[in-house]
Amino acid sequence: MRKLEEVLQDWEAVIGLEVHAELTTLETKMFCGCKLEFGAAPNTHTCPVCLGLPGALPVPNKAAIESIVLAGLATNCDIEKHSMFYRKNYMYPDMSKNFQTTQGPVAFCMRGHLDLDVDGPAAKERITAAGLAEGDCDGNATRTADGYTAHVGITRIHMEEDAGKMVHVGGSEGRIAGATHSLVDYNRCGTPLIELVTEPDLRTPEEARLFMQKLRQIYLAIGISDCSMEEGSLRCDGNVSLRRRGDSKLGVKTELKNMNSFKNLHDGLAYEICRQAEVLEEGGQIYQETRHWDPTSKRTIVMRVKETADDYRLFPEPDLAPYDLTDEWIDQVRAKLPELPDQKAARFARDFGLSAYDARHLVESRATARFFEACMELAGEDAGALAKPVANLVINDVTAHLNAHADFDLEDSPLTPARAVALVRLVAEDAISSKQGKEVFAAVLEEGKDPADVVKERGMEQVSDAGAIEAVVDAVLAANPDKVAQYQGGKTGLIGFFVGQCMKEMRGQGNPKVINELLVKKLG
Ligand code: ADP
Ligand code: MG
Ligand code: ZN
Repeated sequence: MRKLEEVLQDWEAVIGLEVHAELTTLETKMFCGCKLEFGAAPNTHTCPVCLGLPGALPVPNKAAIESIVLAGLATNCDIEKHSMFYRKNYMYPDMSKNFQTTQGPVAFCMRGHLDLDVDGPAAKERITAAGLAEGDCDGNATRTADGYTAHVGITRIHMEEDAGKMVHVGGSEGRIAGATHSLVDYNRCGTPLIELVTEPDLRTPEEARLFMQKLRQIYLAIGISDCSMEEGSLRCDGNVSLRRRGDSKLGVKTELKNMNSFKNLHDGLAYEICRQAEVLEEGGQIYQETRHWDPTSKRTIVMRVKETADDYRLFPEPDLAPYDLTDEWIDQVRAKLPELPDQKAARFARDFGLSAYDARHLVESRATARFFEACMELAGEDAGALAKPVANLVINDVTAHLNAHADFDLEDSPLTPARAVALVRLVAEDAISSKQGKEVFAAVLEEGKDPADVVKERGMEQVSDAGAIEAVVDAVLAANPDKVAQYQGGKTGLIGFFVGQCMKEMRGQGNPKVINELLVKKLG
């Protein structure tokens, strides 16, 4: 198989996502009063309604409707005032009702969008964006200073309910293949679930990953779900097809089911794009099918051939009245919208004079955004001056540390906002060099000490005292009369040599700015 970057030279990938989020922050299930609780003893949260016993009548959870409307408003959707529930009929042991209550052609939320900012290495996968001038467009992508912005349409967000969970016993890794028997836990049955469907507007695995990350940030900000991909409260199916560059007709897609991490989503799609390219290049044909990404063997395998909508016999749910939302109620929900990540980034850029790039990366997680804000509060009058170095610390050093230590919790770490501000101040005031700043950063995390103490203990204080530096400068100049003559004869590039010599004398602790100034003065 060829590599993704090569395949993308010849083929354009078309990707659409279907994202399920459980509304885990609600108290009760979608159509009954059963408690929502992850990890409870099997079948302890069930009742006639969520088990689908004959005659049981569903009562919709109003808070769930409010959650989905919040999600729609936060993703620029139109809120449909008139919509209703449908029955999607199928038989599977994890769904004892034999149908899923879901929505039909009209969902609570329709026609939304999110704008994705893609920068850094992630931007390379969209090869057509690289050649554009800033502000120019290619399809749904607009070139920016550090990458591009992709406008991604959201078809709809509809309300539905989750199924129960099967536990396969006796096989390997809990798979059904090879199992001797299966158990079913109905606790999850009837959990309020919202499904967001995107237009086929994504073009690269990186865009798919960024879309999921951005959506997760938004859902967390509005507080409708804990969005745990590990525990399955946020799940994603990736649909992908290929077409020759320049073609406008969509190719046949395959669907990758239940990608449970951002990395799996990216890698699964990347693999599938390469696999499809190979099949097509060999004159083969792609079949519309559901596939499973196996991160261990690094390939996708067929799960089933796609069922058509007809198989489900979708029909209006007779036990639930259609919805009639009022403008007034929708406005009340709108008033509950908190500051969203994009708005927060815009505020950071505006209030602290940060670049769009810095602001965007600061709000990537709630923890980093909060941390930055706490630092700015502590910086007080110096907030404007310290914003950029604090942002650099958070975006580069803290993020690198986070990536290297999965269990690192910024909100409960030795690097408090006060220590971060103190560290940044030490560098800003030339007490230590920026290189020493990195050492202090590592020491603060490892030893849990204040930056000033680390500096003192390690004898790192940078010497800025002009008198002390002058003595060194004089000695260095006296020791190198030939170089001094060359400098004065026009070889001004030798300044670097003199600075280096002084630094060496001062074991790296001299303030390079002061040294430079003194040298220029004495040599000139
Ligand atoms: P299905 O009927 O198979 O569920 P939908 O039309 O409901 O397909 O679309 C499901 C998802 O697949 C959506 O996110 C949509 O954007 C995406 N999609 C549809 N057609 C294609 C295609 N040819 N290539 C890639 N993605 C597609
Ligand atoms: Mg579909
Ligand atoms: Zn119940």
